[in-house]
Amino acid sequence: MERISTIPVRIGGSLVIGGGAPVAVQTMCSTHTSDEEATVAQCRRLAGAGAELIRITVPGMSDVEHISNIRKALRAEGILVPIVADIHFSAQTALAVAPHVEKVRINPGNFHPDHDSARRLFAELLKVCRDDGTAIRIGLNHGSLGRFITERFGNTPEAMAEAAMEWLKMCVDNDFKAVVVSLKASNTAIMTAAYRLLSARMQEDFGFRFPLHVGVTEAGGGESGRIKSAVGIGTLLGEGIGDTIRVSLTEDPEAEIPVGRAIADYFAKGPDSIAGDFPELKAALDWGPGLLRHDIDTIPAGAVSEHLEDEIMQAARRRFYRAEFVACPGCGRTMYDLQGTFEAIRERTSHLKGTVIAVMGCIVNGPGEMADADWGYVGEGDGKVTIYRRNVPVLRHIPDTEAIDRLVSLIEEEQRRSPLP
Ligand code: SF4
Repeated sequence: MERISTIPVRIGGSLVIGGGAPVAVQTMCSTHTSDEEATVAQCRRLAGAGAELIRITVPGMSDVEHISNIRKALRAEGILVPIVADIHFSAQTALAVAPHVEKVRINPGNFHPDHDSARRLFAELLKVCRDDGTAIRIGLNHGSLGRFITERFGNTPEAMAEAAMEWLKMCVDNDFKAVVVSLKASNTAIMTAAYRLLSARMQEDFGFRFPLHVGVTEAGGGESGRIKSAVGIGTLLGEGIGDTIRVSLTEDPEAEIPVGRAIADYFAKGPDSIAGDFPELKAALDWGPGLLRHDIDTIPAGAVSEHLEDEIMQAARRRFYRAEFVACPGCGRTMYDLQGTFEAIRERTSHLKGTVIAVMGCIVNGPGEMADADWGYVGEGDGKVTIYRRNVPVLRHIPDTEAIDRLVSLIEEEQRRSPLP
């Protein structure tokens, strides 16, 4: 498989993304950034596991100093993995943190509520990043495109590509090319369509392509999270699209690295490179892309177990046998036991075929990121939870000791009133 060409982007002193460089595997810390010791320790483990880029959330101005200290502590230990600051809802924080990290991730959908101000502040960020040699990721998510785009294009793959092109054009107009771009969605069909569109649009409009960071967002955890990620990411890598990947699992980030590495190696070294270690990934990569692209309609009888077939068919959105889960991986903004809660909700609701249930770690980003969900369980912090029905909060400030029961009763009550076909 030939990789689709992109321009090389240098991140810090040692890593190049795009330009034919090997696909880089990255992840994100789940610790609180203000807990410098815990974050340094997690970065140490992630670097040891082979992470080539580590993202850390920077929720506010006070965290700029923390991420700077974390990076310095890592460098003092000889750990040179580039650090990416993850920014939401604060352009000023992006401007302040840019000199202290190798890369800044911004989400155009929440960079600034006013579109003109967002453009002006982004132009300022380009200046700061140029002066400091900092790269940028323009990281769009299907669930948080911003009203400016959704009012014009709906919540579609076209809207995602359109939104990305607007921000990339600003980079081109300012002759700033140290940019990587992502268009993640939890739905593998939407995510792959968006990346394909953007890859083609960049070539058409610019005559070159910025490197693509590929991932399925809010994939959940366990076997189904791994399979969904493998189907979405693998479909694109199999078409030569993708320069860096992140497998987002609702688990400790250490678990993401070997999965990402195995997916990248499947394409770089051949399918047999992962045969023994991750049989579910190999099966997902062997059959998922063909199903998602509708090149095939079934997995040949006996090729995989019945259970794996169900999981791969669901990840490729060809047949649904259980509830669909959307769960964020958690980060420094997470305010409760996300992994334990996700597992408990999954156990109680898995049988609800045809229902999409989101479990999100924070009230700041969670509601905006669960675009496709019928129901959402969103942690508010301080032991409280808000339950959403299609992006509308229906129960607020529920103690977390009751919240799962209340969510399950609401779903069951609705299904009694109007049973699913
Ligand atoms: S939704 Fe999850 S991953 Fe996203 S910012 Fe909130 S806690 Fe972090």
